[in-house]
Amino acid sequence: MQVKLMPDAGQALALERTLHVVNEAANWVSAVAFERGVPHVYELRKHTYGELKSRDLGAQAAQHVIKKVRDAYTTLNANIRAGNLGRPGSRRRVKAETKPIVFRPEAAQPYDDRCLSWQYDAGTVSVWTTGGRMKNVRFACSAGALKTLQAHRQGESDLVRRDGVFYLIATCEVPEAERFEPGRFIGVDLGIVAIATTSTGYQAAGRGLNRHRRRQLELRRKLQKKRTRSAKRLLKKRSRREKRHAANQNHIIAKTIVTEAERTSSGIALENLTGIRQRVRLRKPQRVTLHSWAFAQLADFITYKAQRAGVPVVFVDPAYTSQQCCECGHIDSKNRVSQSVFCCQNCGVVAHADRNASRNIARKGEAVWIAGRESRVPATP
Ligand SMILES: [Zn+2]
Repeated sequence: MQVKLMPDAGQALALERTLHVVNEAANWVSAVAFERGVPHVYELRKHTYGELKSRDLGAQAAQHVIKKVRDAYTTLNANIRAGNLGRPGSRRRVKAETKPIVFRPEAAQPYDDRCLSWQYDAGTVSVWTTGGRMKNVRFACSAGALKTLQAHRQGESDLVRRDGVFYLIATCEVPEAERFEPGRFIGVDLGIVAIATTSTGYQAAGRGLNRHRRRQLELRRKLQKKRTRSAKRLLKKRSRREKRHAANQNHIIAKTIVTEAERTSSGIALENLTGIRQRVRLRKPQRVTLHSWAFAQLADFITYKAQRAGVPVVFVDPAYTSQQCCECGHIDSKNRVSQSVFCCQNCGVVAHADRNASRNIARKGEAVWIAGRESRVPATP
């Protein structure tokens, strides 16, 4: 859970300085780790702890810096092994393998309960800085988020600064509700023009996401003309802001769908994501990647919000969901007359294409659920 900090000018300065100091220290530890072939945490601590303490870092912060560096290498190595940085010898991979990991001056720093305490009622935190403990730093979040924080916050929080704003990212372990037996399924169709259409009539226009996509393309075009560093930085910042906006929209859409499912005792049926990529046939592959993260994110948000509410979620095979008639079951690629209009060649039904698809997904969801239920019930002797 992300909480925005609202420090006064003096507090902001102290937080900024703290992040700079810990990340500078992390870069030094990273160089040591790299030189020594990335030893285990305890060994790395032996080589760096003394020096860190003399750099204004308290015992806790020093430990966190060491662990953060070690974790970063663990993640990098896992990514290399998984092939996420390309084949051996590829430029990206060589770059990652031949240099120590570098932390940005404002990269996230973990805080445990000894360096960070929350005063929920006052809406403040007390936080360790290189200038000493700083009290009464105000934070902002919604009433619902505050409740979750108060009841379920656990372990470490990350302090991070993005585009000039400080955030605390707190870990909350929310227990899952017990899953109920759904009376029916709500099918969710994900698409380009309308981000989400449900079989029950809800449609999210997704203006934010489409605006994000347009801006991204625009930015890319500008980038190709203007290659200065500051221009790049500015464009990156704007793109991050757009992405946050799109994420926010996805949260709202997911919440609307899950709330309706909960209220009507329905399950939720989603298409398999790989299928979405196939179905969203666009001319340029980059546009697909621009959208696929948003679809994946929306599916993620729906899934975890549903889990919290005890709403069952099933994933269905996306084959023919856009070509099949939800009334008579006839499958024909000609059924889909245009991007938005569905007209059955067999029974003559005319429907909105996304609505028709969402109803197919709902029906498939029900079938998946029933099949699963049969396999869950032990066979009678
Ligand atoms: Zn039909």
